[in-house]
Amino acid sequence: MKPSTSGKHWRSLRGKLAKWYASAKRDLPWRRTTDPYAITVSEIMLQQTQVVTVIPYYERWLMLFPTWEALACAKEHDVIKAWEGLGYYRRARNLQALAKAVALEGGKMTRSAEGLRALPGIGPYTAAAVGSIAFGLPLAVLDGNVMRVLTRVLALRDDISRPQTRAKLQEIANGFLDKRDPSTHNQAVMELGATVCLPRKPLCPICPLREGCRGRDHAEDFPVKSRVAQVKRAEIVAILKKGKSFYCEQVPEGKPWHGLWRFPDFDPARMERGEAVARIKYGITKYLVTMQAVSAKWKSRAPSTGRYLTAEEMQALAFAAPHRKLAKTLAKSSPSS
Ligand code: SF4
Repeated sequence: MKPSTSGKHWRSLRGKLAKWYASAKRDLPWRRTTDPYAITVSEIMLQQTQVVTVIPYYERWLMLFPTWEALACAKEHDVIKAWEGLGYYRRARNLQALAKAVALEGGKMTRSAEGLRALPGIGPYTAAAVGSIAFGLPLAVLDGNVMRVLTRVLALRDDISRPQTRAKLQEIANGFLDKRDPSTHNQAVMELGATVCLPRKPLCPICPLREGCRGRDHAEDFPVKSRVAQVKRAEIVAILKKGKSFYCEQVPEGKPWHGLWRFPDFDPARMERGEAVARIKYGITKYLVTMQAVSAKWKSRAPSTGRYLTAEEMQALAFAAPHRKLAKTLAKSSPSS
């Protein structure tokens, strides 16, 4: 029987989903709290990052910055250092900007949808997630997991990279939402996407929605997403050594990785090039970058914009991920330095 998208159909799916979630949900640390601060931290960390990666960061973060006020008062360096390795550092800065705004209101987060959306660093997804989970507001979340589940259930072939499709899916998610318990419903759809309706090889035979799912026989066809071509890029960084220390710079404001530390780009006007010492590949936005590290010497004095750092000092500072990897490679290849 071809499933309909009537109210009755959604009601039936909602009920099956809620029942499944009650018995199948994972025991995750942010599911054991009702603190809006902790829930917000988890939601922001979980954007673009896997649950297993987030758990230790989340737990350490709450020890370092247990309240909005503690985060608001923290030094930016400590905030970035605590985020190191999670990537997308703008999230850490936005979280601190949000903490400052909430701390100014006496440490109480607004409980209205409009108020949440007006806070710094809160986009539509975070407003819906925090609003529903922390305050029970009837706001439907729409993230990658939810889009995958909905496009498959409806066998919807619209391209999800188009804003119009996202708007359409938001409407669909709003219609699917269980307004009596939006917190459980939102978490259940995301949980289904994360553990059953997987991007590859979804577990349709054990899925609670299989009876009403139009896409279950060709699930991997959904969602349809036009690919952004990856652009290859090459860069050369300089390894400038003095004794046991390496010259590094803190990235200035307005540039990617701002506030983080890194090895400098090789600059033939100021440096003499030596031999290649390492090669590291990494992806950033649409770029696939091959970073070659070469030993180098200053032609004149080292500029005062950077600092020579020992391995211990590098460990204590927040480094951009590929440069952290490079620092580790260098430490391994010359353990005495
Ligand atoms: Fe996803 Fe399969 Fe469940 Fe449909 S039946 S929602 S494709 S896991």
